[in-house]
Amino acid sequence: MSKVSEIFAQARKEQRKNLLETEAKTVCMEYGIPVTKFTIAQNEDEAVKFAEKIGFPVVMKIVSPDVVHKFDVGGVIVGIEKPQEVRKAYKTILQNVKKHNTKARIAGVVVQEMAPASTEVIVGALKDPQFGQTLMFGLGGIFVEILKDVTFKIAPITEQEAKEMITEVKAYPLLQGYRGQPPADTKAIVKILLATSKLVMDYPEIKELDLNPIMVYEKGAKTVDARIILE
Ligand code: ADP
Ligand code: MG
Repeated sequence: MSKVSEIFAQARKEQRKNLLETEAKTVCMEYGIPVTKFTIAQNEDEAVKFAEKIGFPVVMKIVSPDVVHKFDVGGVIVGIEKPQEVRKAYKTILQNVKKHNTKARIAGVVVQEMAPASTEVIVGALKDPQFGQTLMFGLGGIFVEILKDVTFKIAPITEQEAKEMITEVKAYPLLQGYRGQPPADTKAIVKILLATSKLVMDYPEIKELDLNPIMVYEKGAKTVDARIILE
């Protein structure tokens, strides 16, 4: 069985439709989608060890099948600079999550590489009852949430269609560089769109996929948060 099938089977066995962020990122890695380096810690000592291995600054987040929106429950702490702060963050995250849901099951706290701030984009997929697997692209933050500046295409997409998705959004000029900002690596986004297309075509049981945000740099890109929902 492929690693992706194994992850899906494990989730189904535990009657989970929402994959953990760490599971979703592992699926992404199998398809060559770049994600922030991560390891799940089960205690403070492990968290410190992993942070030192990844290199500071790090981000720490709750890993729980009962927490879908991690930030909203105080389950995300960014910009952790030293071992002492790792220990503090570990405690704070567990406390915050328990405050919101005393029964939340805890799979651990993930320690991950902190992706430097940059232009944020979103790649999504949704299984439409009529059209089947459909891909979505947009720029992050207000562009998606307020301006609804997004574009859709039915999967599978060609490289040409992936390029069109990027140039179609109104915010496209922001990716070309502005106010002295260097242009974003749109080739890296094309690769992510094509990989996502292949992933959702290979696995029709994926109901929803959300790479939000992806930081895009002058060279390369990095997925900071990933969500996958199964049927
Ligand atoms: P949520 O489940 O609330 O969507 P996220 O994983 O998206 O949680 O984290 C919330 C925010 O924290 C992200 O939108 C991003 O701005 C920031 N963030 C999370 N992980 C990282 C990371 N590895 N590097 C940099 N910023 C991050
Ligand atoms: Mg998120």
